[in-house]
Amino acid sequence: MLPQEIIRAKRDGKALKADHIAAFAAGIADNTISEGQIAAFAMAVFFNGMSRDECVALTCAMRDSGSVMDWQKAGIDRPVLDKHSTGGVGDNVSLMLGPMVTAAGGAVPMISGRGLGHTGGTLDKFEAIPGYQAIPDQETFTRVVKQVGCAIIGQTAALAPADQRFYATRDVTATVESVPLITASILSKKLAEGLDGLVMDVKCGNGAFASDEKCARELAESLVTVAGGAGVRTSAILTDMNEPLASAAGNAVEVVNAVRFLTGEARDPRLEYITIQLVAQMLLSGGLVGTHSEGEKKAQSVLQSGAAVEVFAHMVRALGGPADFVEKHEDYLPKAPVIQPVPALQTGRVWSMDARGVGLAVIGLGGGRTRADQKIDHAVGFTAIMGVGSQVETGSPLAMVHARCENTAQAAINALQDTYTIGEKDDHFVPMPMVIARIEGESS
Ligand code: URA
Repeated sequence: MLPQEIIRAKRDGKALKADHIAAFAAGIADNTISEGQIAAFAMAVFFNGMSRDECVALTCAMRDSGSVMDWQKAGIDRPVLDKHSTGGVGDNVSLMLGPMVTAAGGAVPMISGRGLGHTGGTLDKFEAIPGYQAIPDQETFTRVVKQVGCAIIGQTAALAPADQRFYATRDVTATVESVPLITASILSKKLAEGLDGLVMDVKCGNGAFASDEKCARELAESLVTVAGGAGVRTSAILTDMNEPLASAAGNAVEVVNAVRFLTGEARDPRLEYITIQLVAQMLLSGGLVGTHSEGEKKAQSVLQSGAAVEVFAHMVRALGGPADFVEKHEDYLPKAPVIQPVPALQTGRVWSMDARGVGLAVIGLGGGRTRADQKIDHAVGFTAIMGVGSQVETGSPLAMVHARCENTAQAAINALQDTYTIGEKDDHFVPMPMVIARIEGESS
């Protein structure tokens, strides 16, 4: 079928056959389909949607447009597991979760992304570590997963190339916000990792792409059913993103937060709870534990025994970072020259925060991008962020700002203050649940 006939069929609301979708995705990858045709196809899907079967076909076709990892062939006999977050602020879960799952018996070949919009990216955080090879060649990736059990890296050109081209066109044609296209895009990359199990952390709230529960649930259900249809058992957890997850937001500052979490020096309670929930879910999906609560206990035990921090240190070393990074992380990570408190403007309880505003303030400091090709400042961001429910007093610190100069520090102070709603009366204060829903899937 000609590409224009495939577009016409979708434009007219007809269901596409799997082989037509596969041909279209192959044409995207080998450049025989033009950017105009990709844009028209994306807009037709945006308006007419896709059935589960069509979305499974698109996901598999985009996955197969590049290399798909075969861990059995590489000699890995542990369950191969991963987690994907739809993106948030102060969300450094992956940095601890990969090593924790590995220490508990799984293998985690995690392909992570850069910051997108106001959200931070795991890849940017790891690039704050001097020497860390965030985009290694395939051979190094395989070797580190075999040696360490865990490698957290960025997407290489070999992985789901159809998605790379498709996403670039969607980004500039107002067609990103389509549940089937988001589903196929996220899953094509994740499934190319050759996984046995996947857990989705679908963020919901003012710092997430899905601001309300209905949207988050629709995306989570689509991800779970389509991944299951493509043969990978997947579950999703809907988690609250109405405030930063960690008490740090930025790149190097989130790495420090993660190291302290792993060593036990300091653990933010919300971050700890969500991380344990996700690790337990992954261990369950890989058959490494029999129940979720057994998974929670296992997750705690690899933290307490030091096994998880050992995997983290080993991974950093194997990917080119300093051998003594955990012990001397403060010496290795870049530091901002200006560190100042952000004073509260009134006394009372923090009723709510605009988490998206916190992410935008990090970008304003230079810690995120306004253009895809921009270099970021890994040193800047916020630490000691007071969360929702905290009691503050006029002039007491809401957070510490880490900035390149006095001017950007002042702008960030103003921006962060604006993200807080502080109230005097606290008799009706009800904290938000951290886990909003759990969605279990099956694989077919
Ligand atoms: N992240 C992706 O990888 N793809 C999308 O379409 C949206 C978010």
